[in-house]
Amino acid sequence: MSDQVIIIGGGLAGLSAANRALGLGLKVTVLEQGSDADYFCNSRIAGGIVHVAFRDVTKDVEDIRGTVSGQTGENDATAHAGLLAEEGARALAWIREEGAKFIKGGQFEFMRWIMAPPRRRTAGLDWKGRGPDVTLRRLTANLEERGGTLRRGVRGKELIIEDGKVTGVITDAGERIAAHAVVIADGGFQANPDLVRKYISPLPEKLIQRGAGTGFGAGMLMAEAAGAALVGMDRFYGHLLGQQAFENDQLWPYPIIDPIAQASILVDKSGSRFTDEGLGGVYMANEVAKLDDPLAATAIFDEAVWTGIAADNRYPPCMNPVFEQAGGTVLQAPDLAGLAAQIGVPADALDRTVNEYNAAITSGAVSSLSPARSTHRAEAQPITTGPFRAIPVCAGITYTMGGIAIDRDGKAQHRDGGAIAGLYAAGSSTGGFEGGPNAAYIGGLSKAIVTGMRAAESIAGKSE
Ligand SMILES: Cc1cc2nc3c(=O)[nH]c(=O)nc-3n(C[C@H](O)[C@H](O)[C@H](O)COP(=O)(O)OP(=O)(O)OC[C@H]3O[C@@H](n4cnc5c(N)ncnc54)[C@H](O)[C@@H]3O)c2cc1C
Repeated sequence: MSDQVIIIGGGLAGLSAANRALGLGLKVTVLEQGSDADYFCNSRIAGGIVHVAFRDVTKDVEDIRGTVSGQTGENDATAHAGLLAEEGARALAWIREEGAKFIKGGQFEFMRWIMAPPRRRTAGLDWKGRGPDVTLRRLTANLEERGGTLRRGVRGKELIIEDGKVTGVITDAGERIAAHAVVIADGGFQANPDLVRKYISPLPEKLIQRGAGTGFGAGMLMAEAAGAALVGMDRFYGHLLGQQAFENDQLWPYPIIDPIAQASILVDKSGSRFTDEGLGGVYMANEVAKLDDPLAATAIFDEAVWTGIAADNRYPPCMNPVFEQAGGTVLQAPDLAGLAAQIGVPADALDRTVNEYNAAITSGAVSSLSPARSTHRAEAQPITTGPFRAIPVCAGITYTMGGIAIDRDGKAQHRDGGAIAGLYAAGSSTGGFEGGPNAAYIGGLSKAIVTGMRAAESIAGKSE
């Protein structure tokens, strides 16, 4: 039997697993489908903020765990979320030892640990030479210095299974590579329209890829064929973007519409609210994706929001003025009837929706609106000051939150119970950490490091 560990995917999860495994004396080969020296992946173009549920990972574990469970609630889709609270500080310390550099990037707690140098506060993508790119290069150099192998341009396609144990990988070129253990770290299924249609949205072509577009679900399909259980498949991490992002690359992945929409309302083509805006942008993006027509949603807000929260430069890059500078259009009219005509919804319906919403704020009864509007995460602001404004939105999908069910040590779980011998998963290919009814977003980078590290430790027999 081979003594090497094969890791499918060279993002942060895969390279964390690889370096931790090499550091523990294992032999490692990473298969990465991207062939460029700085191949695209979500990890490379990320914002670089290492947080757990928007908390500083070095704060009190029990306190962070409380924040995590406040967001996830109790459900199978997020059963392991607490592990990120427990392990966040160790993961940060480990990746700093690997050479990753961090800065404090703002006054909010979640901005405490941002990979340096941070992206500029601009619209569009800004990744080359930024913290996450530098970190991936560092991890790649470490891997090579430790004698590991990164094979670029090689795509894992199928698992080799003998007597119920995973013993290797078959590439899409037909090469058979033997392994002592296989770690799937291929980053999720967001770029596979068939899988997105099956689990997330009736019309995947009406969602915009808000990421590298490199996650095709190959790992999940391989694991499923080997009997793996899948969990939490219906949720994704993403944000609301202006619909013009389909034609204008300056409008993704930033700026995001979330702060505006969660301060105001989203309406559908009938002019009615259809979701709880107070649960935030990740939740709203999921709800928009589920609509029969995911391009039917529009954010409605007023001048006070546009010159208030939308112009608050503590949330970089702030919508006002960045959105219009980048070529985005903010529709506006002196009254709601004029706005309704521009966005193609019945004027009387929009008027009724806004009046009900404003009245509920005045009487302190937003929770009795239908659908209910929560305020524990985002204050509901009235829509009363003209000019009234609108931005047609779309769901930007960054990575899928569900995937291969693993235990705390990264071992893939069989749908009939127990672990699948020789098979592990890490990062966005896993399920069990994020999602559920609230589409709880706990942290993609922290999840990648924690699960990558722990899978390696488990293979080496050194589980913490
Ligand atoms: C714009 C943006 C901003 C973000 N900001 C943040 C942030 O500030 N904080 C945060 O916590 N999270 C953030 N995220 C999310 C974060 O980037 C991801 O959660 C994390 O990087 C996932 O790491 P991963 O290794 O699991 O996946 P990836 O980084 O996607 O890596 C997977 C790799 O697997 C490769 N691959 C896929 N299929 C195969 C195959 N069949 N064979 C071989 N290789 C394969 C891919 O090419 C890719 O290189 C952001 C994401 C984006 C796009």
